[in-house]
Amino acid sequence: MSLITLSGIGKSFRSREGRSWVAVADFNLTIDNGEFYCLLGPSGCGKSTVLSLLAGFTQPTTGRLELAGKPITGASRDRGVVFQGDDSLYPWLTALENVEFGLRLRGIPQKERRERAMEYLELVGLRGQEDKHPTELSGGMKQRVQIARALANEPKILLMDEPFGALDAQTRGGMQAELRRIWDKMKVTVVFITHDIDEAIVLATRVGVMTAGPGGTLKKTFPVEIPGDRTRADPRYVALYDQIHTQVREEVLRAATRRAA
Ligand code: ADP
Ligand code: MG
Repeated sequence: MSLITLSGIGKSFRSREGRSWVAVADFNLTIDNGEFYCLLGPSGCGKSTVLSLLAGFTQPTTGRLELAGKPITGASRDRGVVFQGDDSLYPWLTALENVEFGLRLRGIPQKERRERAMEYLELVGLRGQEDKHPTELSGGMKQRVQIARALANEPKILLMDEPFGALDAQTRGGMQAELRRIWDKMKVTVVFITHDIDEAIVLATRVGVMTAGPGGTLKKTFPVEIPGDRTRADPRYVALYDQIHTQVREEVLRAATRRAA
């Protein structure tokens, strides 16, 4: 059985003037347990909207949205969310206290939550950094804290919205390798948004491309069947990149034409 089902999902927003704006329309996708699904598409096509529907932060206007056969009606700790920026970390708490935060809310005793938080900080390579505050950590380290915090709740699904988008290229490459390792070890299902085709190919089991908005929808999904190291030295990598790039470019051009009209 599929873990996540989006069936005929539409999401409209009402502007302050009362006009309706269709962000996402007729979006259909199923994701299996253990997949690493990357979603690509031009800016404004509705990627973050889809993610926030999955998180349960907003409700769809139309369609059916299910997790393990049950409708998603709100946020829950079975879905951990990691955002692009670091402003979701509490600046007055240390790395350890940030990771512990959700566990504390759940009433998990101090010793146990401390142990669990340390375990996840270790997993993301932050052993020895636990007493630092967010301002004392680099961009990559802050994203690691966010990932540790999400994983500490032992979610079924990790929802990530351009989590490495603000990092420099070297740090991003390291974080991608780290995330693949964690995904492999934890057997968690990941839905990952990016606008970087290389990032999608390096990480994903499948890559979905969305159409330009308004009414962004899923255009095409590509399985990534490249064993071993995924680099440009592999002709299968280059061929897949070209196919995905063709689809993305078409939609980026469409978005630009619509903006100009
Ligand atoms: P992406 O993440 O692909 O860049 P978004 O999902 O953020 O795109 O946005 C899709 C469209 O929906 C955009 O036109 C955006 O302006 C609009 N939108 C998103 N959230 C809201 C909201 N809360 N209220 C009104 N419009 C919104
Ligand atoms: Mg977005």
